[in-house]
Amino acid sequence: MHKYVIMGVQGCGKGTQAKLLEEDFDLAHISVGDIFRWNIQTHTKLGARIKRLISSGGLVSDDIVEEIVQRRLRQHDWNYGFVLDGFPRNNRQAEFFLESYDIDAVIRMVVPDAVVRERVLARRLCSQCGLDYNLIYLRPKVEDACDVCGGKLVQRADDNQKALTERLQTYHTKTAPVINLFRRKELIVEVDGTKAIDVIQNEIRTALRLPAYSPEEVRASAAKR
Ligand SMILES: [Zn+2]
Repeated sequence: MHKYVIMGVQGCGKGTQAKLLEEDFDLAHISVGDIFRWNIQTHTKLGARIKRLISSGGLVSDDIVEEIVQRRLRQHDWNYGFVLDGFPRNNRQAEFFLESYDIDAVIRMVVPDAVVRERVLARRLCSQCGLDYNLIYLRPKVEDACDVCGGKLVQRADDNQKALTERLQTYHTKTAPVINLFRRKELIVEVDGTKAIDVIQNEIRTALRLPAYSPEEVRASAAKR
């Protein structure tokens, strides 16, 4: 059983790293952001609540996030463990979480804010099929059009300078104490998120004493997209 938390500001690439761990070790990738998006897209009550909060410039409260994560973990479909992404958000949650689940490590992806800005502002999303693009490293063949369905590419509503500045600020002030707490418990594994995907993945695996990751798998998983 492997139980990990992955931390890093939105746009640091933690989703990609978590997915690679998920695929190879049969872990459940529990991403708070993905759960939000799923709820918004399938128009659940929770989705409507989240959408209202975000569009009014607010943030989803720690309590809602905690409820979502607890509910998700109680499904117990993680026979081999999990990679939790987007939680805990504060020290109280972190303390409680550490008592309830025996966490093996906290992977912290470190990426300078300037790099995060560049990456996030280059993100695009197909307005029809939802496929992700990035104008820096995952460009569409035709400008502003989806390769698969031809749909118009758009930015996520909260991927703008102003929202991003707020997000980065909130992230740093809120997660600093949580990181310190995990550090005191000697759980933190720090990786440089500006390196290549396979290099980062192998640094994570070395630190976690997991079998190495082969670059062929990178190509295979890239081809699957
Ligand atoms: Zn599309």
